[in-house]
Amino acid sequence: MSTVLRGVPVVPGVAYAPVIRPGRLPSLEGEWTGEVPESDRSAQAARFSAAAAAVASRLRDRAALASGAAAEVLSATATLAQDRAWLGAAEKRINAGAPAVRAVVGAIEQFVDMFTQMGGLMAERVTDLNDIRDRVLAELLGLPEPGVPVPDVPSILCADDLAPADTAGLDPTRVVALATALGGPTSHTAIIARQLGIPCVVAVQGLDAVGAATMVLVDGTAGTVVVTPDPVIAGEAVAAAKRDAQRAARWSGPGATADGHKVAILANVADGAAARAARLTAAEGVGLFRTELCFLDRDTEPGIEEQADVYAEVLDAFAGCKVVIRTLDAGSDKPLKFAGHPEEANPALGVRGIRIAAGNPGLLSRQLEAIAAAGRRTGNAPWVMAPMIATAEEAEHFAAQARSYGLTPGVMIEVPAAALLAERILHHIDFLSIGTNDLAQYTMAADRMSADLAVLTDPWQPAVLSLVAMTAQAGVAAGKPVGVCGEAAADPLLACVLAGLGVTSLSAAAAAVQGVGARLAEASLTQCREAAEAVLAASTAADARAAALAVLG
Ligand code: PEP
Ligand code: MG
Repeated sequence: MSTVLRGVPVVPGVAYAPVIRPGRLPSLEGEWTGEVPESDRSAQAARFSAAAAAVASRLRDRAALASGAAAEVLSATATLAQDRAWLGAAEKRINAGAPAVRAVVGAIEQFVDMFTQMGGLMAERVTDLNDIRDRVLAELLGLPEPGVPVPDVPSILCADDLAPADTAGLDPTRVVALATALGGPTSHTAIIARQLGIPCVVAVQGLDAVGAATMVLVDGTAGTVVVTPDPVIAGEAVAAAKRDAQRAARWSGPGATADGHKVAILANVADGAAARAARLTAAEGVGLFRTELCFLDRDTEPGIEEQADVYAEVLDAFAGCKVVIRTLDAGSDKPLKFAGHPEEANPALGVRGIRIAAGNPGLLSRQLEAIAAAGRRTGNAPWVMAPMIATAEEAEHFAAQARSYGLTPGVMIEVPAAALLAERILHHIDFLSIGTNDLAQYTMAADRMSADLAVLTDPWQPAVLSLVAMTAQAGVAAGKPVGVCGEAAADPLLACVLAGLGVTSLSAAAAAVQGVGARLAEASLTQCREAAEAVLAASTAADARAAALAVLG
């Protein structure tokens, strides 16, 4: 008999295959206790350094063979494996007599505690630290490196959560889908799954009980994992999904419904390389360039020329196309060392996004100057938008500044207050872009990084979609464009609903662009509007999805 487990859909697509699970480290008993005699300690320390160096070198080799986000994740993990701070903490323990295994576990534990207390992005590195610990321990014990086994047949990887280094090394012909018990729509697992283009469902309840070799059907659109499904029905579902994927690959834009109502399909990018990759799809431009992601590793503010070079790369990749550059969305889960963030008890509700400009106006004006310079240099005039706007006054102030540099100003709608006052905000600016990731977080009062709350941060939540509807209607009334650039725009079914709500552009990760464009091209505007109406009348996210499916098929 089959059982349906529910989670949060992250990457659309369907796969039917046996489960594999990442290997776990065996018990460390025997390696753990006692004290190393003083005469053996330097040999013990040398064994430890060699093990850490071997792990880092293997990760670097894998980074060299990977590309894009996968390569970045692997080299970041390799760098962390050789980080002086934790290596020094382990060496100190060895010099005091601890066996290498105990020193590794203790030193990593020390940094895990520290990172957890720091919260935000640092807390996310805890999975990386634990992954490094297990790899170094395996190396010390002469065991195979833990992590995802390379399966002989196409398989579905199920885990509590996946270490970034594991997801980055996956071969999408062998691992055909991912399902995790933890993680949210913006977790590492989700980002890598999106890049690999394999179906992915996160925060799946009851996944722990599904053992290796069990046959499962993962539906990355519905957000389900069906355990031991009827093989015939599962086969049909996979064949239908394959036909959808082929249709998506054939879609060549521009974005429009079946009856020709135009909705621009754009790409979300993080730098020039991502923009060049997105240019290979039928994306008509860039709807969100997250500039803060270019500078997360910087201690000091990049100069105007250096910033202009970075922005020009993206403008060049989409020469002659619309490019929306977002000013630094620093703070909370994306702290920038040079932005001068204050110590805050609750950074998600603190000085982040546009709020940083109040205490550091030069940071924003220098960035606007760099964006304008990149526009002049490339001959591609960018639109520019501010994150985390909460009041019409903030929008007015930002618009005046952007216009003084000759830029077209807009703002993001990520805070419920801004959605409620969209009409008043539109008096000051030329366009809106709805960030459904934060809009869901703040509407539902649920941390977007929390796996336990992933059901609340689902963009299909009717309360979130009501605010999207209100914002889109304000745009229609003002005759100004309103786009969506949060993860909601990457869900092909939801994309049709958003078009029905009056949204004029959809901006998604490059891997989602084709699927969104192709799905929209199959629905008429009337169907999209009917689906939108049905969704707004729903009481739960699951009902909203079902209502849209009933109309759009
Ligand atoms: C959003 O909040 O939806 C958004 C697009 O911004 P980010 O995910 O970068 O916070
Ligand atoms: Mg946001």
